[in-house]
Amino acid sequence: MIKAKDFSAFYVNKKEQVTALDQITFSVERGELFVVVGQSGSGKTTLLKSILRMIPYVDGELLVDGISIDDLDIKTCNFAFVDQEVTLYPNKTVYENIAFPLQMSRTPYEEIDRRVKEIADIMDLRWLLTRKPKQLSGGQQQRVGLARALIKKPDLILLDEPFSNLDPEVRRQMRILLRRVHEQYHTTVLFVTHDLGEAFSLADRMMVLNGGKIEVIGYPKELIDDPRSELLEVYLKA
Ligand code: ADP
Ligand code: MG
Repeated sequence: MIKAKDFSAFYVNKKEQVTALDQITFSVERGELFVVVGQSGSGKTTLLKSILRMIPYVDGELLVDGISIDDLDIKTCNFAFVDQEVTLYPNKTVYENIAFPLQMSRTPYEEIDRRVKEIADIMDLRWLLTRKPKQLSGGQQQRVGLARALIKKPDLILLDEPFSNLDPEVRRQMRILLRRVHEQYHTTVLFVTHDLGEAFSLADRMMVLNGGKIEVIGYPKELIDDPRSELLEVYLKA
């Protein structure tokens, strides 16, 4: 689904150049829940933005479904992106917020209704469908944002620390919901976080980034026994 080979990404400010990703090579299989973990500044957001073609200076190969990002038309790709600040339409109900992307693509009313109720059941939002965003908690708003992102059954969902503004208990529930969505929809998920606990509990496979370089890629079970990364070692010892 995603294949990077010696991929680099840069920022150019005035005369200074920052290498945010430094010749990374990895791949994500279709249907995988792949977690990218690393400290602040390690290049996680840059990786997601590169896939969305939002980084102008790149080098090496980055392919999605065999197509180079240079040739991707983001408008026609069925990708979803969610970060920690979901912005809902304040004057629309939860139902209308979730339905919106389908209305834009002129999906028939019955189909919209069926899909909204289906995702609302998975995300435990059925009882909130008639509320307005300001009548929701932060965790509930984030759930609505995720439901809205999933309503078109994206081929790829990019999540940039989507739960980091939430309380620990709510975060724990969100992980369970995300795993449930993933099991039902088999969507390929690229999930970015600085939280190692979150990474270990969510990932099918995970990759540790440090200073724009890959420290290690592996299955959580395998990395617990053999971390091959300072970040993981420190975390697992604590
Ligand atoms: P993360 O999401 O892991 O916190 P980022 O991908 O946002 O990391 O940033 C990676 C590196 O790129 C950091 O060194 C950061 O300072 C730098 N960076 C990010 N955005 C910009 C920008 N717009 N201009 C210059 N440097 C940037
Ligand atoms: Mg970031």
